[in-house]
Amino acid sequence: MSHITDRANPDQIQWLENEIQSVITVWTHEHKGVDYWLPPLAAVASARDGLFEELRRVIDPEHALPSDLLASARSVIVFFIPFREWLGEENGRSGGFAARSWAEAYPETNRLIAAVNLHLKDVLCKEGHLSATTPATHNFDEEKLISGWSHKHLAYIAGLGTFGSHHLLITRAGCCGRLGSLVTSMELTPTVRPRAEFCLLKAGYRCSACYAKCKYGALSEGGFDRHACYRQCLVNDKHYGDLPLVDVCGKCGCDVPCSHGIPAPPAASAEHASV
Ligand code: SF4
Ligand code: SF4
Repeated sequence: MSHITDRANPDQIQWLENEIQSVITVWTHEHKGVDYWLPPLAAVASARDGLFEELRRVIDPEHALPSDLLASARSVIVFFIPFREWLGEENGRSGGFAARSWAEAYPETNRLIAAVNLHLKDVLCKEGHLSATTPATHNFDEEKLISGWSHKHLAYIAGLGTFGSHHLLITRAGCCGRLGSLVTSMELTPTVRPRAEFCLLKAGYRCSACYAKCKYGALSEGGFDRHACYRQCLVNDKHYGDLPLVDVCGKCGCDVPCSHGIPAPPAASAEHASV
């Protein structure tokens, strides 16, 4: 019998995605009326990838290394659970505040990600391996607003996608969704990182759709102001005071060309920004 560790990366990824999907399927069956998610994507980084050390330089000197979470870490598994298009559209078109559906999906998806992590931990344990998880969110320094375990940077290292001009990760299924990750002692084959930029602007085409979505002074051609962004997230939390903590906005990732897939470059070469 072949072990999962003997298989090639595509088979290992399919195995992981099937396991994650099994949790989503049970969840949507058991929680009637909750159906926010599309099939997940997964990717793997070697825990020894040199880019993890780089995170301490690029994000924060205290950003955790895989070995900080698990001494025997060999691989980091990162997954993306895309939101259904209607959810992104409602949020993209809901005016100044985040859409109620978007706010409601947030704590529900946090719970789902926790369930996915638990399930993967269990599956890996049955294969004879340890794993360690962190929460889907709220693992950041509240003053610096910097994450001590940045899922989107891990996702980049694992080859799940590339960064957009909105500072979100654009995956093959777009940027409109949520990320989770865990560290394991299982030696899995790393996923190859994409060679091209998925963001139209970064690839040299004209696009500023995400900038136009941010009416809160947080995102523009001039850069990203994480403090202004978080202020807007807290405005939404206050607006939905009847819900648990919903410090969300996400407008810049909703109803834009990269929301639900890799955006197609404009057909006419005249659209190319460098022309
Ligand atoms: S909306 Fe356009 S510029 Fe912004 S991240 Fe997406 S592709 Fe890039
Ligand atoms: S999440 Fe909202 S406030 Fe933050 S950059 Fe995007 S649109 Fe602006």
